[in-house]
Amino acid sequence: IYILAIESSCDDTSAAILHNKKVLSNVVATQKIHEEYGGVVPELASRAHQQNIVPVVHQALTKANIDKKLVSAIAFTRGPGLMGSLLVGTSFAKSLSLGLDVPLIEVNHMQAHILAHFIEGDTQKQPPFPFLAMTISGGHTQIVLVRDYFDMKIIGETLDDAVGEAFDKSAKILGLPYPGGPLVDAYAKKGDPKAFPFPKPKVKGLNFSFSGLKTSILYFVRKEVEKNPNFIAENLNDICASIQYTIVNILMDKLKIAAIQTGIKQIAIGGGVSANSGIRKALINSQKELGWQTYIPNFEYCTDNAAMVGIVGYLKFIENDFAKQDVTAKARYFITN
Ligand code: ATP
Ligand code: FE
Repeated sequence: IYILAIESSCDDTSAAILHNKKVLSNVVATQKIHEEYGGVVPELASRAHQQNIVPVVHQALTKANIDKKLVSAIAFTRGPGLMGSLLVGTSFAKSLSLGLDVPLIEVNHMQAHILAHFIEGDTQKQPPFPFLAMTISGGHTQIVLVRDYFDMKIIGETLDDAVGEAFDKSAKILGLPYPGGPLVDAYAKKGDPKAFPFPKPKVKGLNFSFSGLKTSILYFVRKEVEKNPNFIAENLNDICASIQYTIVNILMDKLKIAAIQTGIKQIAIGGGVSANSGIRKALINSQKELGWQTYIPNFEYCTDNAAMVGIVGYLKFIENDFAKQDVTAKARYFITN
């Protein structure tokens, strides 16, 4: 089975070809335009998708070295995401499925972030059911109980900002360009995580909150800059390391509660923030310290990519779970129906 997958939920246009569970190609065109604005501008994102989608799909086919006549089905991200962005991928996928006369498969982006673990590769190991998945991305922060491929239950989530936003907004306070998450990670590697203690939010149970942290970072930086205008430049590594340390601790604290409450020690992460070296390290340490089995996706399957849409496409294909031609994009789309 060959799946052609399309992802266009936010600001990356991506296309992939999978042969069963193996990725033959995974092309991602990242939109640079948003850097100038310090965040994703929806109108510009949809325009860039419109521009990129044909060349990106073409490149995915060329890299996979297969003829489009071999494609068994078209999988696409239906939601959640930015409506204008989703519409480009959805419309393109529908037309292509009609043109090639192959079935259409709709994919939930957040399920895809989790099911990316089932892509077959040399270095990825697949979690056994049931497992806990923490999806940490630009728009979501959830702890999900995964009983089966399409049997998922959210047991905790953020009450305000997503963890990716917390990284990006902190970076913005420090004057770093968008998206700042990877930059905070890079500077953090050279800094002291305990240089500046930031308070952890007091949220009960398995839910998260990140807006208070952002505010306390803002006030702290403002106060220090008043005393020393060069405070940020002189302490960038330490500030980033301290922010990352606090965020990783918040995530790990909740995962620990979830593991105790559910009795599940198979722990997976997914979404863009799972590329973060701090959380990756904390999870690897937990294997020894807590006896967890942890599952961390390959870098390329952490941030938005079409390969993860393709694996969901394959899993739905073998269950004959196809979409109708009148399917519409959904900006809000939950992983549990
Ligand atoms: P969602 O998946 O919730 O719809 P999204 O698709 O925009 O949101 P992703 O592409 O999954 O989000 O993740 C992007 C986020 O991941 C950004 O906030 C980015 O800063 C963050 N991120 C990426 N790499 C790192 C890293 N190494 N450290 C911290 N954050 C990172
Ligand atoms: Fe995403």
